[in-house]
Amino acid sequence: MTRRKLQAKPLLLVNICQLLTFSSKTTHLGPRRGTDLKELGIIENGAVLCVGGKIVSVGTTKDALRDPWFKKNRKQVTEIDCAGKVVLPGFVDSHTHPVFINPRLVDFEKRIEGASYEQIAAAGGGIRSSLDAVRKASATLLTSKVLTVLQDMAAHGTTTVEAKSGYGLTVESELKSLGAIRKAASLWPGTVVATLLGAHVVPKEFQGCSQKYVEIVCKEMIPQAAKRKLAQFVDVFCDKGAFTPAESEQVFEAAKTHALNVRAHMGQLSETALQPFLRFNPASFDHMDHVSEADIKQLAKRDTVATLVPGANYFLGLKEYPNARRLIDSGVPVALATDYNPGTSPTISMPMAMSLACTHMKMSPAEAVAAATINGAWALGIADRKGSIEPGKDADLAVFGVQEYRELTYWFGANHCELTVFNGVVASRN
Ligand SMILES: [Zn+2]
Repeated sequence: MTRRKLQAKPLLLVNICQLLTFSSKTTHLGPRRGTDLKELGIIENGAVLCVGGKIVSVGTTKDALRDPWFKKNRKQVTEIDCAGKVVLPGFVDSHTHPVFINPRLVDFEKRIEGASYEQIAAAGGGIRSSLDAVRKASATLLTSKVLTVLQDMAAHGTTTVEAKSGYGLTVESELKSLGAIRKAASLWPGTVVATLLGAHVVPKEFQGCSQKYVEIVCKEMIPQAAKRKLAQFVDVFCDKGAFTPAESEQVFEAAKTHALNVRAHMGQLSETALQPFLRFNPASFDHMDHVSEADIKQLAKRDTVATLVPGANYFLGLKEYPNARRLIDSGVPVALATDYNPGTSPTISMPMAMSLACTHMKMSPAEAVAAATINGAWALGIADRKGSIEPGKDADLAVFGVQEYRELTYWFGANHCELTVFNGVVASRN
């Protein structure tokens, strides 16, 4: 599957059992929060017309077939009968780490045998064990790794992916990783948002002098990534064993100086006060297993999204999951993502993340699907183009072979995606 340079032919999907539009007409402006999160804007027996890569009209099949423009131009329109199927905006996976070489199978086995995170790291596992292979890898190999993952994601209904660097942790290998993301994105028909995660963990050669490493992130990686337009975002892993709040603020300062937006891994292992970071207007705080009541109140008033990644809790075999109910019921906008990475969440499946959100975080199926689409788009600052099926937005759609949307979260571990549409072009057919 490669990016089609062809202009998208007009495309009409008809007879859709349930068309999930997430129309903003049914909700307040901004990321979906509170009870708005379950407003799916469902049209039964729906139709969606895409022209020039954009959605131009959304409604019932009956109205679509009566449309004067359609009647006149029917011959040049590709029609797809979606009887017995559900159509939704392509998933927006707003948190992934695809630039690595090897799976971490030894860590996985050790953890099953009872080793702790610290014991695994001490035995040479953890994030640092992925560094060598990425540093040595050619740009071509990294690109092919990323592209394969993007294609797998598309086959599961994902059309927009945020992709982080973060397994090189030298100036050269971080830029090489971002270059691989850019090259893979150019070969894939979907949309990729690139993030520099130079501040993923302090590499071994800087242990005990993390400040020196932070200086390299701020004074070399960030300026060079910005100058070469290799990243839209800068991310930092702010937690015990990674970067302190003060170091994380430094990273955010440098990002803002170079006109890059920010997002952060927050509250995965321990609680960090979020207030000092709000002045940077982060698009998203991700993980959020540990967060204070005071910070929840602050987030409820802002558009910063809490991106929850239950795949990590599942894969680590944790009993506790982020308290999605508390966040949603308090009015914090919540998104869901896979956190695809070799150590803690090797899944490319958004439906799997959604199913976990339902069973382990008590989100309703409706909330899960909204969090995986429209709020993912908000978490990436691209909700003006992505995340809902409304006239004027990019024609990114996913067609599932199920009769109603709740089945997406119910048949866990199965892939019911039959068709993915990128900018009006049918690009993946299972
Ligand atoms: Zn992550």
